[in-house]
Parts: sequence; C-alpha cells; structure tokens
Amino acid sequence: MASLPSLFLPHGAPDLLLSTHVSKDFLGTLGRRVGRPAAILIVSAHWEAAQPTLTTAEAPETVHDFFGFPDALYRIRYPARTASDLIDWVDDLLTGQGIELEKDASRGFDHGTWAPLSLVYPDADIPVVQLSLVRDGTARQHFEIGHTLAPLRERDVLIVGSGSVTHNLRELGPEGTPPPAWATAFDDWVLKAAEAGEWDSLMQFPEAPETGRRAHPTPEHFLPFFVAAGAGAGEVGHKLHGSYSHGSISMSAYAFGGGLLSAA
Ligand code: ZN
Repeated sequence: MASLPSLFLPHGAPDLLLSTHVSKDFLGTLGRRVGRPAAILIVSAHWEAAQPTLTTAEAPETVHDFFGFPDALYRIRYPARTASDLIDWVDDLLTGQGIELEKDASRGFDHGTWAPLSLVYPDADIPVVQLSLVRDGTARQHFEIGHTLAPLRERDVLIVGSGSVTHNLRELGPEGTPPPAWATAFDDWVLKAAEAGEWDSLMQFPEAPETGRRAHPTPEHFLPFFVAAGAGAGEVGHKLHGSYSHGSISMSAYAFGGGLLSAA
C-alpha cells in the first residue's frame, strides 16, 4: 500500500459550511482523491495546550467554538468516533522521541476539525483523533512533531493540519474583495519554499519573511502547516488549491508526499 500524503487544509471562517465559497467545492472533492484512510489525526489552529495533547473521548463532542453565527451552524454535528490504536501509536512515537504527551478525555472537536472534515469526509464514519498545538511552540517544534508522527502514514493514517496560510482578523474585507499584496506575497513565499522543500527557510517564520507578522499577528493558524509538512518526511509540498476568503484569508491547501494528488 502506498503511503498517504499529509495534508494542510484551510478551515476558513466559522460559517464556511453555510457559504458558497469555491474552497468548499475543492474540499468536497478531496476525499475521493485521497481515498479512505483507516483513521485521521488532525491538528487544528483552535486548540493550544502546554504539552501536545490528544482527544481520547470515545465519541468527542462537536464544539461550536464561536459566537454570533446563524443557528444552523450550531446544529451541525460531526459524530466521528475515536481510534484507540491511533492514540497508542501517537503515544509511542512521541514518547519515543522524549516528547511528553497529555490526554484529554473531555475535549471535543473544534470547528478547525469538523468544518473541513464535514466536507472532505461528510459521513463521519472514519475514526478521528485531534492533537493540540503546543502553546508558544515554534515552527520548528511543530515540524518535528509532524516528522515524528510521519510513520503513521504507513499505517494508513491521514495526518491533517487545519489552519490558514494567512490569518489576520483585523484586515478582513467583504467576501470577494481582491486579496491585499501582503497576503499574496506571503502565500507566494510559502508556495515557493514548500515546492522546493526549503524547510529551514519556512521555519524562519514568523521572523521571516517581511510579511510574516502581518499575515499572522499570532502564529496559531500557520503552525498546523508545519505539522503537516514535517509529517511529509522530507517530501516536497504540492499546492492543491488556492483562493481567498473575506479578502485576506488564504484558503491554500497542500499535500506533502504521497505523490498521488494533483491540482485537480
Ligand atoms: Zn480558525
């Protein structure tokens, strides 16, 4: 069995699932292109913890971690169950590298997890485990966590980072507004470095490039990218989709390794 790619996916604004954005069409066809993994390990921008932490609830709740959106959004559920063998594998791999792992039996899935997965695997019949970011962790630290978890791909686990290549909530525009130059410059920088496998260059984030802190006043929406890139185990990134939401939010999506997915 060929190993799966690791993926970086955009989750957009909380109401992505109620919108008609072109990135939804992309996400809606992605599951068929990737195929059906045995389980999914996903890292969302919306969970930061002092140590890497896993959801271990048997049936994690769907958490509506936002306010002021239409009622229909609060009715959405993503009832995927957990995967106890995946929890054990993550534990073995991380502790084997001296990385301390915590487990959280009460944590549910935030919208960084259920929004994209509702489009990619709408039946919610593939087991899902969510892994936290490390609060105040660096790009390199997250890349190394991804690299440590890369062997899971051989076990038919789909590793997904969920965030945004650009994410500055102070600089949003009405839907359809052309993206500002700082956003496209940052997006282009990421694309070039990812396609060339220039990981050391990428891991200068947020100090570099010049647009880094404007693209991410706080880094959490880009850190899942490094987990996915690290899980690619050195294989270069391949851009699967590019568009913008609310003017400046990049909806770029990437695959690392796997060698099978083309930009449809
Ligand atoms: Zn988000």
